[in-house]
Amino acid sequence: MRADQDADLANESQMADPYDDPFKGDVPEEACGVFGIRVTPLTRSVSHATYDGLYALQHRGQESAGMAVSDGTSITVVKNMGLVSNVFDDRTLQSLPGNIAIGHTRYSTTGSSTWGNAQPVFRAVGDTGIALGHNGNLTNTVALAAKLGISATDLRSDSDLVAHYLAVEIKRGLGSMQQGESLKSHPEVLLDALNTVLPELKGAFSLVIMDHDRLIGVRDPNGFRPLCLGKLDNGYVIASETPALDVVGATFVREVDPGEMVVVDELEVRSFRPFPAASVNPKLCIFEFVYFARPDAQLLGQEVYTTRRHMGEYLAKSAPVEADLVMGVPDSGVPAAVGYAAASGIPYGQGLVKNRYIGRTFISPDPASRVDAVRRKLNVLRDNISGQRLVVVDDSIVRGTTTKAMVKLLREAGATEVHLRISSPPYKWPCFYGIDTPSRPDLLAAVKSLDEIKAFLEVDSIAYLGLEDLKSAIGAGNDGYCDACLTGCYPIEIPVTIEARAMAQ
Ligand code: SF4
Repeated sequence: MRADQDADLANESQMADPYDDPFKGDVPEEACGVFGIRVTPLTRSVSHATYDGLYALQHRGQESAGMAVSDGTSITVVKNMGLVSNVFDDRTLQSLPGNIAIGHTRYSTTGSSTWGNAQPVFRAVGDTGIALGHNGNLTNTVALAAKLGISATDLRSDSDLVAHYLAVEIKRGLGSMQQGESLKSHPEVLLDALNTVLPELKGAFSLVIMDHDRLIGVRDPNGFRPLCLGKLDNGYVIASETPALDVVGATFVREVDPGEMVVVDELEVRSFRPFPAASVNPKLCIFEFVYFARPDAQLLGQEVYTTRRHMGEYLAKSAPVEADLVMGVPDSGVPAAVGYAAASGIPYGQGLVKNRYIGRTFISPDPASRVDAVRRKLNVLRDNISGQRLVVVDDSIVRGTTTKAMVKLLREAGATEVHLRISSPPYKWPCFYGIDTPSRPDLLAAVKSLDEIKAFLEVDSIAYLGLEDLKSAIGAGNDGYCDACLTGCYPIEIPVTIEARAMAQ
């Protein structure tokens, strides 16, 4: 969701931010959740439903939240920095009547996240307007900005650029009509604008868009980020993940296809294919299964929790070890640990407790402070760990600094051996499709051999899940995933300047 025109932004996750989450930069960071709802007027409060939907998507972004609500005449946008529960209270939600809403939770990829980058983005167009929420990351922002005559310094984000481009095309469409014509009297103009703009976008984008009367969902031709459609008795819902449908009582209908646009209006749901057929090539981010998505989410017909448990089972077969206890690193390492324990016959137990209420805390970059920061987030269960040979299962290692600190905590608590098992292959390449990862020199597996990683983390053994085993664990076919951060095979082109920065040694 960030603007990739700015070379500094490409590496912004590495900027020292003293008020940072202790794990930031050391886990792949998701960048946004989107939600949209349209109901028959006066049948339910769409603002409260959007609040619930965003709450269910909070894990996809914790730095800002917002929603746009239409009462059929005008659109009101409320957004602010902070968690969904910080931004909205009942009084605010009560003041947002309407029958259409979109919402957004944002993970800022900048050290200094700002209100201006919170979403939904809004553009006034004549007597109405459009609002847009984006999960993903465009890869051709510079070229688009140049085409629209916008200088890099004036560009706020790629999401803002999409909204701007749409507004330009809507105005162009209305301008070709008689004076005084509006989007309200010519609703087809928005669809025409989308048909012009969407094929011009490159990269990852799952979008929710609304005008005063319609809810629209769009998924890029690769479908990097998820997007699903749900049905209510009195309307429809579009969301990044299925738990956001569940929480508002919607029935899962289907995933929005890669390269599809769904339009929800009084004519119900209509499906459009605005992208050239040749560009449609499904590449769902494989890390949605490993780490990003909620365990109760359904992706490609699979429950994510089950796929993670299978990852642990495959790991137990490919990387067995003699040990007394299998434990997972909370939260996303736990299902794979359960699977490892079941397949290996080694008892499963909890060794770490996570403080769920920790926010952004002060840390400094020295290793001792990193241990303190991890200590604030994770604490050990000494009785379970002391004197035990541990198999510790985690989902991934990015920089390795928090993993190293966690291993130190386990040793201090009396673990006699620590065998690290990772339920994904080595993370070696930066992501350009909406996930915030460090540049290549800071990715532990990109710069160290397996033996060097073992020595750096001070573990007794380490093993990663193989790519084929990962795909088998997901069980939804071998193709159709992006695995570029594991293989270096990027499904769509990355601008040379951005790639050079992110790969630089
Ligand atoms: S590069 Fe990795 S994190 Fe990024 S979309 Fe592809 S699989 Fe997901």
